[in-house]
Amino acid sequence: MGSDESKESTQDSDAEDSSSEENSLEHILNFHKTPKQIKAHLDRYVIAQEEAKKTLSIAICNHYNQIKYFHSLSDEEKKDYEYAKQNILLIGPTGVGKTYMVRQIAKLVGVPFVKADATKYSETGYMGGNVEDLIKDLVHQAGDDLQKAEHGIIYIDEADKLASSFSHSHSTKDISGRGVQLGLLKMLEDSEVDLRSGHDPASQMQALIEMQTSGGRIKQKMVSTRHILFILSGAFTDLESIVSKRLSSHGIGFTRSEPGSREGPSHTLTAVRTEDLVEYGYEPEFVGRLPVRVACHSLSVQHLFKILSTAHGSIINQFRRSFEAYDIQATFHDCALEQIATEAHKEGTGARSLVTILDKALKNFIFELPSSPLRSLQITRELIQNPGEVLQQLLEDEKHHYLPLQQAVEEYERSFFYRHELKLTIAPEAYPYIVSQVGMEDAHVQAFLHERLKVFEYAIKIIAQNENRDHINISRACLEQPIETFERWIKNSFTNKGQGSASQNPP
Ligand code: ADP
Repeated sequence: MGSDESKESTQDSDAEDSSSEENSLEHILNFHKTPKQIKAHLDRYVIAQEEAKKTLSIAICNHYNQIKYFHSLSDEEKKDYEYAKQNILLIGPTGVGKTYMVRQIAKLVGVPFVKADATKYSETGYMGGNVEDLIKDLVHQAGDDLQKAEHGIIYIDEADKLASSFSHSHSTKDISGRGVQLGLLKMLEDSEVDLRSGHDPASQMQALIEMQTSGGRIKQKMVSTRHILFILSGAFTDLESIVSKRLSSHGIGFTRSEPGSREGPSHTLTAVRTEDLVEYGYEPEFVGRLPVRVACHSLSVQHLFKILSTAHGSIINQFRRSFEAYDIQATFHDCALEQIATEAHKEGTGARSLVTILDKALKNFIFELPSSPLRSLQITRELIQNPGEVLQQLLEDEKHHYLPLQQAVEEYERSFFYRHELKLTIAPEAYPYIVSQVGMEDAHVQAFLHERLKVFEYAIKIIAQNENRDHINISRACLEQPIETFERWIKNSFTNKGQGSASQNPP
């Protein structure tokens, strides 16, 4: 979150309390974004979900502007101030950007954010957690800055599981949805949560430590939920048919999306009303405290393609970096991205499947290529469809290509063994470097290796002795920068001396 998150705890003294209160409040009071600016920021990261981004941007601005206004009032005026907090209900299938949007907003506004799973909580807190633990998590996220925590965002996922219909039809799950709804009810609006009240071992231990250090007095540590924004989200699978039924019984025919459709925006869900949510299994008072409703739609193949190719912080860049760490240039072709998007769409878990498909296709390349001579990889449709075959073919082609070089290298390795009775291997990943220096001709390669390693032969023997090794592996880095590498290896070998052969050294 914001850079000032690591501030000192505010509980040590009253004087410190007030000064740091001002600092964290100042940040909120400086909130000056417009809904359009927030939406523009979201557009950089989140593909599609236009209506959801817009509604969320408006709700966030309203919320923080109301807080600004509240803090501008005198103490007397604050007492009369009434505001219905705009907590949000976010409805939509898994992996379509619900959490992602809120996370980006929290980052942009610079407020702490916690995400929790509704099914983790129970009415009493004896099974699973207590809903008040959410506030403790938020305080923790705020770096123990209570003032900051009091203006944060709490995101509760799987909120559809709190509906009483869910509890009835899934009796094996030990969650009392209604009880948790009632527990949350108090917090959604305005309540004071005492951070010391926990029954969990960690809270009790903390209380015990503080009792000892403060000579038996435990100060209360209250957090007000008045300005905390709650966002509840879930798939609400059957909700669409409830809304459709109501709309058709009223003869409203504007809905064009099929209930349960996995494509495009859902017009039906945007028409969700309190009565639909009550029919779904929510308590009326509970729904009443979630006045802003945002519907997210499922993602099409084209959306998934766009997420891969254009979204800021795209996962393609993550995979590209995984290869770059070994000096391998990976080029993703559009045909590969189309194939990934098509396969991910079939899985039906939104953008989450993109990582799964990429990982499945590329993991053996990330395993094999770093220790092969290959330093560039073309990621094509064929590679995504048949990763095993493509990898095997690539490795065979490389082997064939480097055969003359490999023979020269093996000749050098044999001569080293005769001279020192020690097995030395030049790593295949170093082959492209050798070629770039002297080409592939036998005599040139051998001369190059002799020349480069001559003065380090004694060092190699010392390393082997110190680490009780009968085999040393010469990496590309070692050939490129022998002085620095041997200095490091020698040093490590003396540190590891006497610890058997289980050293962490690269050779
Ligand atoms: P959920 O809707 O279940 O909360 P998330 O928001 O956690 O799903 O999405 C999982 C990941 O998928 C995100 O971290 C993000 O990388 C990617 N993602 C999901 N939807 C989108 C989208 N509409 N645009 C860009 N990336 C997305």
